[in-house]
Amino acid sequence: MPDTYRHRGQRRALVAELRRSGLVRDEPVLAALGAVPRHLFFEPAFEAHAYQDKAFPIGEGQTISQPSTVGFQTQLLGLRPGERVLEIGTGSGYQYAVLCQLGVRVQSIEFNPVLFERAQRRLSALGLPTAGLHLGDGSLGWPAAAPYDAILVTAGAPAPPPALLRQLRVGGRLVVPVGPEATPGGAPQQLLRLTRESEKGFAREAFGEYRFVPLRGEAGHV
Ligand code: SAM
Repeated sequence: MPDTYRHRGQRRALVAELRRSGLVRDEPVLAALGAVPRHLFFEPAFEAHAYQDKAFPIGEGQTISQPSTVGFQTQLLGLRPGERVLEIGTGSGYQYAVLCQLGVRVQSIEFNPVLFERAQRRLSALGLPTAGLHLGDGSLGWPAAAPYDAILVTAGAPAPPPALLRQLRVGGRLVVPVGPEATPGGAPQQLLRLTRESEKGFAREAFGEYRFVPLRGEAGHV
């Protein structure tokens, strides 16, 4: 990936902070966060914010997720190289780049055409494969490449989208924030992991409260 040397000190410091926090413990995930130049997912004027552990606006009313949240959600997926992963909500493309760095095969769907085109251009300039990027309603999944070993939703859903549950293989994991649409001072969402244990059975685990921008589309918030 180009420009890996710029801001390397800040990137290392961020990874050290995430390791110290104890939230992200998976070494391959920490290494991926240390390798992806997050500043290249920001407008140049805002680059100085890239290595703070904060979400940041990316335009169109959307955000690039906080690095600790990207790390924690990725860790929850329990990925092994070569696995098939579906991401819902490409946004800036940062999470997609982190997943590519982990050696998994990624499909990613974005609802917003402006963000989709920007992410496509940016990821292509970084030399990452863009055939897995799609414009559409990710709440319906991407059946063409199913079943998936893991599915990650990077926007808050009212409930686990049924199409995503169907597109997981047995043994596959869905990580999704679920709850009411986030409003200032409103109720948070629960970060859930649903593991498909059989054709019809899912184990459900909760990993704390988060506030994500809303998932739109058929199985999203209206
Ligand atoms: N993963 C992104 C990144 O690394 O920058 C951050 C994603 S942002 C928190 C959530 C994204 O989900 C937004 O870009 C939003 O447009 C997108 N989104 C919302 N509803 C969607 C849907 N039904 N299908 C696909 N993308 C959706």
